[in-house]
Amino acid sequence: MTSAPGDDRVCGEPRATVCRWWGDRRGALSFTFDDGYQGAIERAVRPLEAAGWRCTYAVPTGFVGRDLLPDPPCAAEPAASWDDLSRLAAAGHEVCSHSVSHPELPTLDDDALRRELVDSQRALTERLGGPPGGTLVYPFGRFDERCSSLAAETYTCARGTRLRLCDPSVEELYRTDGALIQRGMTCKHLARWLEQCLEERAWLIEAYHAVVTEDHPLWTAGYTYCWSDRRVREHLGHVRALEADLWVATHEQVASYVRQRERSELRCTPLGADRFALSARLADERSGAAPLTVALEAPPGRTLELEDTPGAAARLLVDVAPGQPALRFRLR
Ligand SMILES: [Zn+2]
Repeated sequence: MTSAPGDDRVCGEPRATVCRWWGDRRGALSFTFDDGYQGAIERAVRPLEAAGWRCTYAVPTGFVGRDLLPDPPCAAEPAASWDDLSRLAAAGHEVCSHSVSHPELPTLDDDALRRELVDSQRALTERLGGPPGGTLVYPFGRFDERCSSLAAETYTCARGTRLRLCDPSVEELYRTDGALIQRGMTCKHLARWLEQCLEERAWLIEAYHAVVTEDHPLWTAGYTYCWSDRRVREHLGHVRALEADLWVATHEQVASYVRQRERSELRCTPLGADRFALSARLADERSGAAPLTVALEAPPGRTLELEDTPGAAARLLVDVAPGQPALRFRLR
């Protein structure tokens, strides 16, 4: 028997359901950092890494290692170096493209647009290794149909910066929206978004830029696209308190999960008396692709148990990952 995405499926007597988010969490959260501010690594990425989370760090590749970032045009906050980016990638963060030179993509002709998308990805792959794909973050959050179509040729997903929660279909993975974190926003704003995210079972993408101390020149000058390290730490505390309900993952991992959830096929095969095998044809078979979480439920009065994992329960969560053999389980 084959499943359609998100449907309950009877396989023999047990039921296999594709979970909306990994780990059967109610919502998903991605921390993303745009423009490649070196200071954001120490002040925000390290603390979230210490909490066990990974982020998406988007760089205009032409600015890596330079003193001047596209915005603000000041040397108060230097750009990350290729060594910084290598360390981030080695620690499991997604280091991804924010174009080469941070132009407004819709204003470019076809050739220039292609260079911004293709050359930035090539630089990242050559410098950091890893497979092509990943997220494209549109500079200034601006894109049109032509940009998203071209992004689909080269990237796994792409993100803008309008302020709303996301619930993309597979077709919309090149038009996801990050919530722009600005100086005028407090931790309460973000806490409210987290509540909404869980209420709506949605995906919240937080888009940070500079992260500075509250005596930093960008902060005291009232620069819009920055947040303070103190607020970041307080916000991470809120996220920590919601961790049982909230899946924190990189932009690419969540996009990959959406693809798996909507396009994979599950198959449950009876193997004999009360024994079954759960296998999947996954939509995204790349080795780093997100696993799909499936809830297995026993009929009333019975339990089920994975063959090589002791512990029977009425409901079990299992991950189906690329390249993984079929999962065998039995009814008790
Ligand atoms: Zn930017």
